[in-house]
Amino acid sequence: MSQPDTKKGLLEVYLQGNLLIKILIGLILGAIAGLVFQDAIGIISFLKPFGDIFVRLLKMIIVPVVMASLIIGCSSIAPSELGKVGFKIIGFYLGTSLLAIVIGLFVGTLMQPGFGLDMMGVSSDLAKTAESPTVSEILVNLVPTNPIGAMASGNILQIITFSLFFGIALAFIKDSKDEKIKQAGELIYSFFEGINQILYKIIGWIMQYAPIGVFALIFVVFSTQGGAAFGSLFSVTISVYMALVLQVVLVYCIICFLFKINAFKFLSKVRAPMITAFVTRSSGGTLPVSMKTAEEEMGISKGIFGFTLPIGATMNMDGTTIYLGVCAIFIANAVGVPLDFAAKLTIVLTAVLASVGTAGVPGAGAIMLLMVLESVGLKVEAGSAVAAAYALILGIDALLDMGRTSMNVVGDMAGTLIVAKSENDVDESKWE
Ligand code: ASP
Repeated sequence: MSQPDTKKGLLEVYLQGNLLIKILIGLILGAIAGLVFQDAIGIISFLKPFGDIFVRLLKMIIVPVVMASLIIGCSSIAPSELGKVGFKIIGFYLGTSLLAIVIGLFVGTLMQPGFGLDMMGVSSDLAKTAESPTVSEILVNLVPTNPIGAMASGNILQIITFSLFFGIALAFIKDSKDEKIKQAGELIYSFFEGINQILYKIIGWIMQYAPIGVFALIFVVFSTQGGAAFGSLFSVTISVYMALVLQVVLVYCIICFLFKINAFKFLSKVRAPMITAFVTRSSGGTLPVSMKTAEEEMGISKGIFGFTLPIGATMNMDGTTIYLGVCAIFIANAVGVPLDFAAKLTIVLTAVLASVGTAGVPGAGAIMLLMVLESVGLKVEAGSAVAAAYALILGIDALLDMGRTSMNVVGDMAGTLIVAKSENDVDESKWE
């Protein structure tokens, strides 16, 4: 009688535990066990399916998530409401995201995190080589001849292109003056919003399995690689944070300077949203704090921040873009397939789009990393070295998420301030 109760109790305790901590425990236990049982072939083959299931679950979700989130991301703003402020803020958000990915790739190329971590040793099938098409091939291949075929074969770049067309067209339909067409657009929008919610629910469930999957994948890495993986995790973390700091200094501080804003004052004013984003790891969750700061600390009018901050929390993710660039380089190095120029160019495109499609919730960027990897031919297959390297990143994702979410929010605040300033809509007394 008491046994089922105990079992239920354990499951409940497991489900209620903090996910971050559970994944971190999975990483640490997997690493320790892997170091203790070096090259333990029997244990490796027993644990491998647990890791493989996790990777397959992630793969299962990627195509629908990319589609639904991009469609929702592109269609959530009504073209008629965009106006001057809308164009300015979207231009700012996309421009700074572009600079962010360039900085991320620059720091990644300089630091080469993951270099020398021969992950190929963890899998026999490995390293699919990163394809290196020419720039014109990349551009031509962006356009699917058959969107359903692109979905069926998981061609991420073509899926992105089709989703962008679909999302932007939906924005117009939903904004139509013809009531019937407008209603049809709203229906489709609600449909995709529903799909998005369902997918995030499924991701929540997959993430409950993540600690077990991460444990199994990390065990295999450490059992075959020894302690070398620790150093590379340290280097990827340092690289991400270095790039985040560079983004603040080279992009936001210089923009502040150009608009005659004291950058130190700006950074000191945005500390509350920065800290909130750091601890909650959610731009969406930080929105109330960002709005309060914009109004009370920065003297920006509600007409501006009420529009720009929610858009920012949905589509402007400079920190996530940096993370995607650095981690793609880490994984490519770890599997011994360094990225060439064409692959980096593809990452510039996919990371900016991925950041538009990333939801402002904890860990969303890690799902988008799968899309970026796939776009450069680093297939995350069960049992592959890419999957093992990805698991390493997932193990420390919380740490990376804190920094990138903070940066995402700082980017929203910077864009809002600059647009408000250009519209003469800032209470200057708050800046004296
Ligand atoms: N947690 C991030 C945010 O809310 C998104 C991400 O995971 O990159 O902004």
